[in-house]
Amino acid sequence: MKYHSTRNKTLRAYSMDVIKQGLSPEGGLFVPDNIPQIELGELVNADYGQRAVNVLAKFLTDYPEEVLAGCVKQAYSSEKFASPETAPIVTLKDGLHVLELWHGPTCAFKDMALQILPHLMTAAIRATGDDKEIIILTATSGDTGKAALEGFRDVPGTRILVFYPQQGVSLMQKLQMVNQEGSNVMVAAVEGNFDDAQTGVKQLFRDRELAEIMDRKGLRFSSANSINWGRLVPQIAYYISAYLDLVKKNKISLGEKVNIVVPTGNFGNILAAWYAKGMGLPVNRLICASNDNKVLSDFIRTGIYDRRREFYKTISPSMDILVSSNLERLLYDLSGRDDAQVRSWMEQLAEEGHYRIEGKALDKLQSEMWGGYASVGETLDSIRETFKKTGYTMDPHTAVGKWVYDSYRKETGDNTQTILVSTASPFKFPGDVLKALLEKSPSEDEVQLPEILAEVSGLPVPKPLKGLKDKKIRHTAVCSKAQMKDQVVKLIYQ
Ligand SMILES: *Cc1c(COP(=O)(O)O)cnc(C)c1O
Repeated sequence: MKYHSTRNKTLRAYSMDVIKQGLSPEGGLFVPDNIPQIELGELVNADYGQRAVNVLAKFLTDYPEEVLAGCVKQAYSSEKFASPETAPIVTLKDGLHVLELWHGPTCAFKDMALQILPHLMTAAIRATGDDKEIIILTATSGDTGKAALEGFRDVPGTRILVFYPQQGVSLMQKLQMVNQEGSNVMVAAVEGNFDDAQTGVKQLFRDRELAEIMDRKGLRFSSANSINWGRLVPQIAYYISAYLDLVKKNKISLGEKVNIVVPTGNFGNILAAWYAKGMGLPVNRLICASNDNKVLSDFIRTGIYDRRREFYKTISPSMDILVSSNLERLLYDLSGRDDAQVRSWMEQLAEEGHYRIEGKALDKLQSEMWGGYASVGETLDSIRETFKKTGYTMDPHTAVGKWVYDSYRKETGDNTQTILVSTASPFKFPGDVLKALLEKSPSEDEVQLPEILAEVSGLPVPKPLKGLKDKKIRHTAVCSKAQMKDQVVKLIYQ
């Protein structure tokens, strides 16, 4: 199967090239020529790894199946994932099931994709006879950077450099990055906010002088961000697997429709659920949950996408996004796969900051999806109320999803069995979770909070977050935006 660009159907490539390149050269996103169908019945008794290989093999047809099986085995091993089920599903109450995607090495859902992407990338490089070593450059607002570092550490043929905003990440997130081990990793703080780091990285990708040095040294840049198809396809697998687990546990019957609620930022996670539905997974509604940066829930309600608005810093920082890159792939499907239409919407977004969809595309969006949001206060209430009623502790991102699920039930009366996607361990955000549970801000030093949350919630601190404060600090570099290039040069000559 081949892939083509959402902005120009004639630009086509096989999946190995798609994964190596990340973005199509004219700025569009790669999508598969068609969506393969899945035989759910055959996979009810399969384990997570077998289900993942099945899904990957359907989309990545130019990879030999044994190579995919090898990638899956390395990515989701018991050394890396604390739960034997990889992505366990927990029933919270009648009709509501939480899919926990945070049992990987960095305790956020990005591990599900970033543990396997490096293996898919290096397999593609080997198979296409490309002998260049790759350098991954990433700017992070918190979770992606750490997950990418863990995914690429010590993977032969790769080096990785992560830039994080000096003032823009939580203490836990910062500690996770500055302690990073591995022979091929580098981390630097950038003086400025996430946007500075992000635009800085984009300039590095386009820098002529760097390109020449890289070429001489047999190196090439690549990107691990969530528009890479190699991150999306492993995410489709966990939706299929969660559904099959519910069948196996007799919570639903095979063929019964479910709703799926996803706390959403860049629109990657929920888009994977959309593709799972396209493969034949019985899904009724996809429920898109936003925080105060509710550009997506407004879009679903009105058809108007408008990023010209105030940006809020919330307690669910991984959803603080006003331009959701992966939405372009949904627009492509909604438009009836019309590349010219997508190009025009995206040009309008870049030039004027907004666009509007109408007619059939809007009807389809509103019949397939439902959008809602939770304010910071509602997110804290959601954590507290859920803990009181069920004893279950949620992180702030998951809590946004739970609040929106409750609003959906109230507004529509729909009782369909529902999967709520849990995207991070509560121990990644112990300060805000404790604030909700104790109804006041904890007074202790921030580094003590995981242990206090363990006492209050009755849960153990996850191993990867244990003793972070006592680990050796390995990365102390701080640079201005203009000095980011020096960091890359250092990595090249390392
Ligand atoms: C990245 C992230 C999200 C948002 O996911 P998208 O795929 O960008 O929509 C939600 N929650 C957490 C904890 C994340 O790290």
